[in-house]
Amino acid sequence: MGLLIASQLALRAARCSWSPFSTSKSWISSRTSPLGDKNILLMGPPGAGKTTVGRTVAHRLGLPVIDVDDDVLETTWKMPVAAKLASVGGARFLEEEGQALCNFSASGCVVSLTGSNPLHAEAMQHVRQTGLVIYLDVDSEDIIRRLTRMKVNRIVGQEAGVSMRDILHYRKQFYEKWLDVRVLCGTGDTVEEVAEKVLKAVERYQKHAAETYVSTRCDSTGTSKQNTYFSDVVVEGLATDGGLYVPKNGFPKIDAREWLRLADMSYPERALVILEKCIHPLDVSALDLRTMVLKAYGSNFSSEAVAPVKHLNHNQYVQELFHGPTASFKDLALQLMPQLFAYCLPSMCNYLILVATSGDTGSAVLSGFSRLSGTDRHRTGVLVFFPEEGVSEIQKLQMMSHREGNARAVSVLSDFDFCQRAIKRMFGESGLTGHLAVEYGTVLSTANSINWARLLPQVVYHSSAYLDLCRDGVIKFGEPIDVCIPTGNFGNAMSAVYAKQMGIPIRKVICASNHNRIITDFITTGKYDLRGRPLMLSHSPAIDILKSSNLERFIYHISDGDSRLVKDLFTRLDRQEHFQVPEPLLGRIQQEVLAGWCSEDDCLAAIHSVHTQAGYIMDTHTAVAKVVADRLQDGSCPVVLCSTAHYGKFAPAVFKALQIQNVPEDPVEQLKKLGSTASRPEMHRDMMKCLKEGGRKQHTVCQAEYSVLVEEVENMIQDSFLKVI
Ligand SMILES: *Cc1c(COP(=O)(O)O)cnc(C)c1O
Repeated sequence: MGLLIASQLALRAARCSWSPFSTSKSWISSRTSPLGDKNILLMGPPGAGKTTVGRTVAHRLGLPVIDVDDDVLETTWKMPVAAKLASVGGARFLEEEGQALCNFSASGCVVSLTGSNPLHAEAMQHVRQTGLVIYLDVDSEDIIRRLTRMKVNRIVGQEAGVSMRDILHYRKQFYEKWLDVRVLCGTGDTVEEVAEKVLKAVERYQKHAAETYVSTRCDSTGTSKQNTYFSDVVVEGLATDGGLYVPKNGFPKIDAREWLRLADMSYPERALVILEKCIHPLDVSALDLRTMVLKAYGSNFSSEAVAPVKHLNHNQYVQELFHGPTASFKDLALQLMPQLFAYCLPSMCNYLILVATSGDTGSAVLSGFSRLSGTDRHRTGVLVFFPEEGVSEIQKLQMMSHREGNARAVSVLSDFDFCQRAIKRMFGESGLTGHLAVEYGTVLSTANSINWARLLPQVVYHSSAYLDLCRDGVIKFGEPIDVCIPTGNFGNAMSAVYAKQMGIPIRKVICASNHNRIITDFITTGKYDLRGRPLMLSHSPAIDILKSSNLERFIYHISDGDSRLVKDLFTRLDRQEHFQVPEPLLGRIQQEVLAGWCSEDDCLAAIHSVHTQAGYIMDTHTAVAKVVADRLQDGSCPVVLCSTAHYGKFAPAVFKALQIQNVPEDPVEQLKKLGSTASRPEMHRDMMKCLKEGGRKQHTVCQAEYSVLVEEVENMIQDSFLKVI
C-alpha cells in the first residue's frame, strides 16, 4: 500500500506544478481592479452590442473604454472605417485591420473588438495576450433583426450574393476559436443585462477557487484543506475519505432565455454550452472542451440528434440513449469522459485503467478510450476483464472487437467477483504498483461510475430531452415534465436531479427497479437494507444492483450537504449492512423522486404490448421504466422514459417477450429478425458492424489465476507504453 500512496503523493506534487496559476494567464491574481492591468476584450458579430455593452461595463468598473473601430482603426488610418473599406476592398481591409491591431498595446481597459477582428489569426493571438476574450454569443436571427433595424445590409468580407445568415454562420467558427469565456445572450436581453453577464463572467474567471469540489463525507467548514479542482476530481475518482466528489457550491443556474437559445441548438452545441457552465475555463479551456465535445458527439452516434426524443403514446415520450457505438446510454458519458481524463492527467506518467465488468460498462469504456488520439492514446490505456460466462453473447462480441491498441478486453474463466477482486488486489499490492511505476512509469487507475466526469456529461441529455419538447411545441419553457429512469447505480437519476438544479423544470424523477428493488424500497420506506437480500437474475441485468453507489450523492444533495449524516449512514452501511434516514429527510426525498419496481413478467408483457400497439420495440430496461411510469405517473404532464439500451443488446429476452419462435443462433441473424418486426427504431449500425466482424474471430481466455491476470496487465503495459517512450 505504501508505494501506491507514494505514487499518489507524486501525482499531487505533479499537479501543483501545472496548476492554473502557472499558465499563460497567470496574471489573474488578487489585484484590486478585476483583471489588474489586463483588458476585458469583447468579441462578437456586428450588432452583438460590443460597443454599448463595452461602455456600460467600463463605466461600472471605472475603466477606460476602447472601441477598435473608432479609437484604433480610424486614428491609424485617419479616415472613417467605411471609407477605408470602400477604397481598398474586403480582403485588403481585413489584412490592414489585423495589422493595426497587432500594434495594439493598451492595458487595463475594456476593449470592443470589431466583428471581423477574429478573422485575423496573428492579430487575435496578440490581443489575446493582453486580456480575457469574452464572446457575446447572440442568436443569428437576432443579429439579422438588429442589423435590419440599423439599416446595415452588408458587413465586412460579405461578397455579393452571400446572405447575411451564411456569413454570420461562417464567422461563428472564428468566435468559437478565440473565446476565453462565452456570454450567452438571450433574445430580448437588454444592454444592462448583457453587461451584468459580462461582469459575472469576469468574476467567475477570477474566482477559480469558488469552483472546487468536496467529498460527500468531508466536513468542509472546519479544516483549511488544499482546494480540490476539477482535474483532481477526475483523476482521483473516489475521495480519500471514501466519499464521492461533488461541486462545493452546487450547480450553476441557467436562466430561461438562455435555455431557449439552447433549444435551437444541436446536441453537441448544447453540450458545449452546458459543460462550459459546469467546468471552469481554467480547468479545461473553452477551445479544448469544444474539441472534445465535437469528437464525442459530432459524428459517432448513429442518430444525428444523438439522444432523440420520440413520442410513444398519450403523454409518454421515449428518449433514445442507445445510438452510441456500444448501444447503451453509457456511451453518452464514456465518449467524452476518456478525453477529459486524459486531459487532466499529469503529464509525466502513463496510465492504465483497469475495469472489471459484467455488462455494458466494459464495451463503452473500451470504445471511449480507443478513440483517444495522439499523445493521449500513447499514455492512456484501458484493460477490461470480463467473465467468459457472465456476459451476454452480444456484449462479449462487442468487447472482443477490442483486442489490441490502447484499449483491450480479456476474458476470464471465472465470475465477475473474481475479476473485481483481482483488480482490487493489484491496487493494494505495493510491490506490483511500485514495479509498474518504476519500470514503466505507469500508474494504475479506474474509471468507475462514481467518477465526476462520467456523471457530468449525463446532465446534458436530460436537459436536451426537455429542450426538444420545447422546440417541438409539446410544452412551453417552464412547464414541468417527469422523467422515468431504469435505475441501478443511480448515476442516470442523479444527473436528472442536477439538470433540475440547473433550471430544467423536472417535477419528479421516477426511479424504476426490477425485482432487485433495493432503491424502490429505500425511496418508499427510508430504509436501505442489504441483509438477506441475494441478487436475483433478471431480464434487465444492468440494473441488478444492491449497492447503488451514486445514491450517496443524492443523500448529500437532499440533506443540503450534511456530510456528517452521509458519513454516518454510509459507514453504517459498510459495517452493519443497513441504514435508515431520518423521517423529515424521507419526506424531502419523496418530494424529488418516486420509485416503483416491475416484475419479470410485467417487463416482458410491456415489450409485447408496446410492440403490438405502436410497432416499437423496447429493450428490457426501457420496459421496466414503462411499467413503472404507467403505474406511478399521473398523466398531468409529459413523462420522458429513458431508453438506456437498444433492444438488440438483450435480444433473447426480447424474443421471449414477443413470443417469436425459431430464434436464430447467430446474433447477427437475431438482430435482423428483430429488426424486421419493428416499424421503428431501426437497426443499430455500429452494433451490427461489430457483430459481423467479431463473430469470425477467435479469442483467448485466461485461466482464473491472479498471476495470469497480472501477467496480462504487464504484457499490455509493455507493448502499449514501452514502444513510445
Ligand atoms: C448502466 C445501465 C443502467 C443503470 O444506470 P445507473 O446510472 O447505474 O442507474 C440502466 N440501463 C442500462 C442499459 C445500463 O447499461
